[in-house]
Amino acid sequence: MNRHVMSTVTVHRGNLLEHDPNYGQPVICYVCDMPHKALGFARIEDQSSNTFDTFAVPLCEACSVSAITDNAVVRKFWNVEAIRAYLKKQDVMEH
Ligand SMILES: [Zn+2]
Repeated sequence: MNRHVMSTVTVHRGNLLEHDPNYGQPVICYVCDMPHKALGFARIEDQSSNTFDTFAVPLCEACSVSAITDNAVVRKFWNVEAIRAYLKKQDVMEH
């Protein structure tokens, strides 16, 4: 069997609790760029990295409950990673 291993990213969603230091902080939604007070978040687990990196990103109320948010988060995550990789390459070439 030819196993084509795609990079695996999983998204977990949650809500901040009132005692959380970030609760109610002004943040911008990761998915739709809406400024809001921090409440919902998504935790992105990058299983393709050796270190199983996780990132927590803020979600507005609408995105917290939307069914398509997981896909949107993953898509945005990969865009950001692609840009980061590109910039890193540029950086190397300049030195
Ligand atoms: Zn949003």
